Amino acid sequence: MTVLSPLKASKKTDYSALLTSRHRPLGGYDYLIVGAGFAGSVLAERLASQLDRRVLLIDRRNHVGGNAYDCLNAAGVMIHRYGPHIFHTNAQRVMNYLSQFTDWRPYEHRVLAAVDGKQVPIPINLTTLNTLYGLNMNSAEAAQFLAARASPDIDIVSSRDVVISQVGLELYQKFFEGYTRKQWGIDASKLDKAVTSRVPTRTDLDDRYFQDKYQCMPSMGYTHMFERMIDHPNIDFFPETDFADVKDTTKYAHVIYTGPVDEYFGHCYGKLPYRSLRFEHSTLDTPRYQDTAVVNYPSLDVLHTRITEYKHLTGQVHPKTSITHEFPTSEGDPYYPIPTPENAVLYRRYEELAGQTSGITFTGRLGTYRYYNMDQVVAQSLSLYGKIAQAMGVSVETEKAHSQSMLAAA
Ligand code: FAD
Ligand code: UDP
Repeated sequence: MTVLSPLKASKKTDYSALLTSRHRPLGGYDYLIVGAGFAGSVLAERLASQLDRRVLLIDRRNHVGGNAYDCLNAAGVMIHRYGPHIFHTNAQRVMNYLSQFTDWRPYEHRVLAAVDGKQVPIPINLTTLNTLYGLNMNSAEAAQFLAARASPDIDIVSSRDVVISQVGLELYQKFFEGYTRKQWGIDASKLDKAVTSRVPTRTDLDDRYFQDKYQCMPSMGYTHMFERMIDHPNIDFFPETDFADVKDTTKYAHVIYTGPVDEYFGHCYGKLPYRSLRFEHSTLDTPRYQDTAVVNYPSLDVLHTRITEYKHLTGQVHPKTSITHEFPTSEGDPYYPIPTPENAVLYRRYEELAGQTSGITFTGRLGTYRYYNMDQVVAQSLSLYGKIAQAMGVSVETEKAHSQSMLAAA
């Protein structure tokens, strides 16, 4: 990989020189990949290493990794600049793929929620119920406790329905109503059921946030993993470079676009709504701030949704600790596609337009307007790569076998 200075339109001539001196004099790049997050970096890596394609990878930010970017702050504590990123997956293929570029630190995520003056496990579990209600139930009794409150027979359409059907109105109000309103700026009754379905309800003592087969963090951080991923002679990476800076001044055969799809089309059908966040990072002169990596604040009386303390995630030993408060906002970088029925209809119009536009493929969380986790984006990119490989006559099975043999050899 070659990391180059930001590529601005004003540096057009420098760039032409680069093309002629360092690359195919006439041809330029096979792919221009817009966005160096998981979607763009995985595709850049696959296309460069497996198909010998020349890739120009750009990002308007000054770093690789997209929202998963991590770095040492001024105090030397590793933080996630865009909020906590916890890796979890059930997909062996995703795990095998990423393991080519990083070792892993075992980490199971636990979250507490500040409710009624106490900090209790979320997802709601046996401990949550016993602590909140001053009871000493066993699992069977907790199941009966919830059954007496839940409304299992309602038609489950929205995110509100999901929770009410499982735990009833009171627990919904304590844990979900305020948090969801703050996080999304709308009521849970307006959100697709998939949103709160991400958080299960339990009646046992399991207090892990996820139950996936693989739960771990890249041992040297995400950024290090990304740097290794795109470290290939066929890949040139330009940070601080917007698509607009290069689209008309660069030679490439095809674009892979992982930015917001509506932005690419000049919002021609109107803006797709995204939820943004303001991150307030701080470093404290104490080794430990809170009991778990994340503490959620569902109450509407508190403006932030959660506080993250990174040392739980990274295992870093340091006399200080760094934390981040998250404040959801409607303005700012597009972090979350907002899953509502209206937005899905609007997205489908863009999707149709994208399908009719030649020379460009949209992918990733923003390119396909999907509330995807990191592993889902990796799987989506591997699958897109498989289609490209197949179209070039390289069988996906050959590619799979190749990556497996690479893993065995490593
Ligand atoms: P992104 O990471 O958003 O990358 C897209 C990149 O494209 C960006 O860097 C952007 O700067 C660039 N770009 C956009 N437009 C242009 C343009 N015109 N020109 C140049 N560059 C452009 N997932 C998990 O699995 N576990 C978690 O714990 C988790 N926590 C999260 C916490 C937060 C606060 C957020 C916001 C997300 C979280 N996610 C988590 C989801 C995860 O961030 C995404 O699944 C993943 O990062 C998506 O990768 P991507 O490449 O599709 O998009
Ligand atoms: N949620 C909530 N209270 C919580 C945790 C989650 O209301 O304590 C809801 C909220 O709507 C949130 C959704 O469940 O957006 C999904 O939670 P998750 O932790 O998966 O959100 P993410 O990590 O993607 O921000």
